[in-house]
Amino acid sequence: MKRILLLGGVAEALAIARTLGPAHIYSLAGVGRVPNDLTCQLRVGGYGGAEGLAQFIRDQGISLLLDATHPYAAQMSRNAAAAAQLTGIPCWALRRPAWQAGPGDDWREVADWHELIRALAPFKRPLFTLGREPLQHLHEIPEQQFWTLRALDSVPGNDRCEIIAARGPFQLEEERQLFERRGIDVLISKNSGSQSTEPKLQVARERRIPVLVLKRPELPAVDRELGSVAQVIKALTI
Ligand code: NAP
Repeated sequence: MKRILLLGGVAEALAIARTLGPAHIYSLAGVGRVPNDLTCQLRVGGYGGAEGLAQFIRDQGISLLLDATHPYAAQMSRNAAAAAQLTGIPCWALRRPAWQAGPGDDWREVADWHELIRALAPFKRPLFTLGREPLQHLHEIPEQQFWTLRALDSVPGNDRCEIIAARGPFQLEEERQLFERRGIDVLISKNSGSQSTEPKLQVARERRIPVLVLKRPELPAVDRELGSVAQVIKALTI
């Protein structure tokens, strides 16, 4: 019988985990919410790199590794592909399609934090929706800027940055109000491809403000790529 190790951390992974029986394991890093109502087994915390993951796969008799981590969780995806190779089991991945800019969008791709800060220079009131990384840079905010930073963690800001602790899904009307209230003149986003965080892009379009999009990381080749939860579930049942 197949024994699946599902690497999660996003809503789609949880949806897949809910379909798995007790023989399978759902694995989380432990940075977000941990569900307590699953039928499958749950494991929380890292493995100590690809070697540690490979050892876990051997110890647990795992026969399929399913990487359903966030598209920017590149380290874990690399570890997964490497561990599957080391143990000789297949690695499948749920790879969300990226968002595409449409008519009226002004998206500017940036490769890293350095490029992002350069691209941000002409703006005054950015909204950061990148997660935790900007928290390390709160002391570097230029004099002419006031940042609004949305992240999962509730941490104090400073006199040049307000931090909003919130987790998606975000509704269009709420997003409109947020941009209006804070006078946002540029949005900073990953290209997560998630429906639950997409409304902010529509608001940027409506307000004709640019979006600085952090480039997606390169992800390793896997044995099978699937684009949606439905495709994964179908592939697992065949
Ligand atoms: P990352 O840089 O790729 O991974 C860092 C380390 O966290 C990994 O090397 C691994 O530790 C551990 N880890 C990550 N995912 C794990 C999992 N599913 N099960 C067990 N250990 C895991 O990942 P990240 O960007 O910090 O993201 C951490 C988690 O949050 C991921 O599960 C991801 O799906 C989720 N997430 C990330 C983002 C994002 O924007 N990056 C957004 C939403 C959710 P060891 O090397 O010790 O095994």
